[in-house]
Formats: sequence, structure tokens, C-alpha cells
Amino acid sequence: MSTAQPPHPAASADPATAADRAADRPVDLAGIGVGPFNLSLAALAHGVPALRTAFYEQRPAFHWHPGLLIDGATVQVPFLADLVTLADPGSPWTFLQYLKAHERLFPFYVAERFHIERAEYDAYCRWVSEQLPGLHFDHRVDAVRWDHEYELFEIDFARPGPAADAPASDPAAADAATDEEGRALGRVYARNLVLGVGTEPYVPEPLRPLADAPNVPVLHSSDYLEHRERLLVTGHVTVIGSGQSGAEVFLDLLRNRPLGAEGLHWMARTPAFAPMEYGKLGLEQFSPDYTRYFHTLPEPVRDQLLPRQWQLYKGIAHETLDAIHHELYRRALHSDGWPGAVLTPGVTVRTAGRIAAAQLELHLVHTEQGTRARHTTEAVVLATGYRERRVDTLLAALDPYIRRDASERPRVDADHRLVLDPMIKGSVYVQNAERHTHGVGTPDLGLAAWRSAVILNSLLTDPAYRLPSRTAFTAFGLQPSGRCGTVIGNPHLPDQRSPLTPTRT
Ligand SMILES: Cc1cc2nc3c(=O)[nH]c(=O)nc-3n(C[C@H](O)[C@H](O)[C@H](O)COP(=O)(O)OP(=O)(O)OC[C@H]3O[C@@H](n4cnc5c(N)ncnc54)[C@H](O)[C@@H]3O)c2cc1C
Repeated sequence: MSTAQPPHPAASADPATAADRAADRPVDLAGIGVGPFNLSLAALAHGVPALRTAFYEQRPAFHWHPGLLIDGATVQVPFLADLVTLADPGSPWTFLQYLKAHERLFPFYVAERFHIERAEYDAYCRWVSEQLPGLHFDHRVDAVRWDHEYELFEIDFARPGPAADAPASDPAAADAATDEEGRALGRVYARNLVLGVGTEPYVPEPLRPLADAPNVPVLHSSDYLEHRERLLVTGHVTVIGSGQSGAEVFLDLLRNRPLGAEGLHWMARTPAFAPMEYGKLGLEQFSPDYTRYFHTLPEPVRDQLLPRQWQLYKGIAHETLDAIHHELYRRALHSDGWPGAVLTPGVTVRTAGRIAAAQLELHLVHTEQGTRARHTTEAVVLATGYRERRVDTLLAALDPYIRRDASERPRVDADHRLVLDPMIKGSVYVQNAERHTHGVGTPDLGLAAWRSAVILNSLLTDPAYRLPSRTAFTAFGLQPSGRCGTVIGNPHLPDQRSPLTPTRT
């Protein structure tokens, strides 16, 4: 792809306007949000000198779920699922390069730990983000539109502080006005876009009134560490939610509250505190082969399949469940009787309200028994999960051009590109917003490098990264020809197995 874009005819006519100047220097790819997925893309794009990229992040620096970097908590995927290795093991941005740079390769080798601590993954990503060129932190992107005249995406951002001290690398900021918060406004142009805005904490409706109960700590698990010290000395704490976060918060509180006076209740709607599926063949559903296969399925089949696969992304790591049971047992041993920690699955919080200055009452119903109860507590940790961050405001101007499926969700093609009206000449890619088209692997760090390489290759005439033609032992789907073993949705894979006689039903 050539990068030298002829200046826009109007620009040379009136060089004064910042927009024209900025439009003269469009990037090939602009990224919104710098979480692990767009950081992976930026790191792999760095290996493609022909591609000019810029990434904008509203936060002042890279931080990965800072509220849950609980001591000892590990990433749920092996260290090879870093930002780049599964697409380019020779990249300067691998986790092993990070260890080398911090003289920790030998200790890591001796440690023999395949799953690293979340705090180390966060530090590794920040190490990459502090060195990669083209990352603009403290830049909140407020709007994106397609400029039909320039045939470019126009990206408006706001960043703290007056226009004057805009960094030189910020093409349009120097002439920027300021918004109502006094943030300097800027505009840049790009041929293509990638949305990596991630997820945001989710609080179910009945629990929302809780959140604004003053004096009583009610927090989403994403803010756990900020409130940890207060929770450790609060008389009674309730954790709601049976996912990994809920389990980790409960375990950390259990381990650090007084023996025999644990004052803890862990409750969830699910019928059990269930383990996450971690069987090797089950994990092949987090492979590129499965992602490609899932994308070929009819929309209604995809929509039925996803909720049925809940144990692949909603359960709790075995190790965490074992650690909880072990801690409960240890406490029963050292106190005369059962620890003061109650675990109740199968309950739904119907309503909730404050009953005293520092007390809350949850009105519960048991999903199987149908019985009702009142539960009093002094603090609530809502480990109620996350939802894909809404981008309607951000993309409002592009909305008329976005093709949607029967459920009004954006259609996304196999290369993670929004299906747009052909009037839009550029592409809009999404990262971690396409579970409905690409399946359970969408939020998985294990697919970060591969998806980034797919996106980069689709931008270039000659692919920058050679990707594996096969990534799983399981052959997902059947070829209409009846030749079993051909990986569906993967034009590259030669047929490796003997033809199969079609089964007579
Ligand atoms: C607590 C937790 C632990 C997890 N652990 C694992 C794990 O172990 N293994 C695994 O495979 N997956 C894990 N996941 C799932 C997933 O990998 C993570 O959610 C991951 O952070 C997703 O990365 P992301 O880049 O999509 O989004 P995020 O990390 O959410 O980053 C998105 C970024 O976009 C920025 N942004 C949003 N809007 C704008 C805007 N308008 N302008 C500029 N910037 C913007 C945000 O500030 C944010 O920094 C975990 C998720 C959570 C919540």
C-alpha cells in the first residue's frame, strides 16, 4: 500500500485550515482505545513500516483492569498468549523479550509457571505501550465520521489541557478549540479505523439502586482493590456473581478476614459455582479454526450456540475453586466449627434497599425453591460482569452506512471488518465487539495476535504475517462434499483425510 496521499485539492488552495493540513497527513490505520487488543495490533503494525498508524486512548497510560490485580491472581491463558508471539514469535514485543529486558528470563525459566500473574501481564503491556511510537494516551475519541470529500475518516478527540502544550506528534491539536471541560479538541484523518474500546462494568437493573446508597460500600468488582482495605474491616460483606472475578474477590476477602468472624456471603443466580471448561479439546474452540468456522454458521445457529457455551467463558478456574475450598477447610480446622462464610448459588436479588445508616437489605428469591428471604449486609461487591462498550455515540455519524443483522447488531465480516455501505471507501475493524459473529474467542487474549495479523494482512496487498492454515486437531463442521476433516471457512487448508461416505439418515 503506498502511503504518499496526494494533498487534498482544497488543502493546497487554503493551507491555513488545520483540518486540510491534517487531511493531508492521514494515517493508514487509526485505532480507538489501547487495551490489550489494540496494543497487540499496534505492536504488530510496528513491524510493517509501510503502514502509518496512530492509536488514541482516553486514559493517561496503559492499565489492565487495575481494580482486580489481586496478589497471586493469574491470567487465564498461557504466557504465549501475549501481544504478538502467536503471530510473530520473533517480534521485539514478546513477553520473553520483556523478561529479557528486565533480566527475569532465568527466574521465569526456573519458576516453570505457564500462567503469569495479572500484575505481570499488566506491567508487560505497559512496557510495550511506553516504547511503541504512535500511541496517544489521554486522548478521548468523541466522534468519527466519513468525509466524502477527502474520502477519509475524520476522528475528533479531546485531551486534557490547553491546546498550547499539544505534543508535536499531535497533527491537528495545535489549532484546537476546547470543549466544556476545557479539554483541547483535535481532529485527525485516517484511511481505515479499528475500534478496540473493550468492555465496561455491568450492573443488573435490580441492583442499580444499590450503587447510589451513600455510606454503604456498594462497588463493582472492577473497583475492588480501591475499596479492599475498607471491605476487610467492614462487619459483613456480600459478593454477588459466580464468575472468575466474584470467586477471586471472595477468596481474597476470605483469606484476609478474621478467623471465625469471616462475615462473608457469596451468592449467585447460577445453580452452582461451576468450573470453567478447561479441557484441551474444549479449548480448541478458542482457536482461529473455530473462529472461522463459527463465522460461517447461520445467524440463528450462532445465537443459539453462544449461550450454550457459557462454561467456556463464564465459569471459574479450577485452581480458584480449589483454593476457596482449601481456605474454607483450613478455617474450619482452626476455628471450632464451620467458618462464617456462606456460599449460596441459585438466588436472584429481586430488589435491594438501605435499612440503616450502614446497612443494606437484599430481597432474595431462590430460583429452584421459589422461596424468598431478606439478607442484611454492610457492603456489596457486584461481580456482575462486563458488557461490550456502547459505540453508538462514537459512530453515530457512520450509523446510516453500517449494515446490521436481524437483531440490529452490526454485521462483521471474516476479517473483523464492519460491513458498510460501499459509499464508505475505508474499513472499520472491530476488536472484542464481534462475539455474535466470531464466537467465544472474541474477548480471549489467546486470539489477540492472530486477529491483529488478520486485520493487518487484510489492509495490505501482500500479507505481512504468514498465518497458520490449521490451528486445531478438531475439524469443525463438514464440507458439503462429504469430505470430512476439511476446516470450514479456511480456503487455505488442503484436504488431508480420506473422503467420508455421506451418512444415510
Ligand atoms: C478482570 C478481567 C480479567 C480478564 N482476564 C482475562 C484473562 O486472563 N484471559 C483472557 O483471555 N481474557 C481475560 N479477560 C477478557 C479480556 O481479555 C479483557 O477484557 C481485555 O482487557 C479486553 O481487551 P480490549 O482491548 O478489548 O479492551 P479493554 O482492556 O477494555 O481496553 C479498551 C480501552 O479503550 C479505551 N477507550 C474506550 N473508549 C474510548 C474512546 N472513546 N476514546 C479513547 N479510548 C477509549 C478504554 O479506556 C480502554 O483502555 C479479562 C477481563 C476482565 C474484565
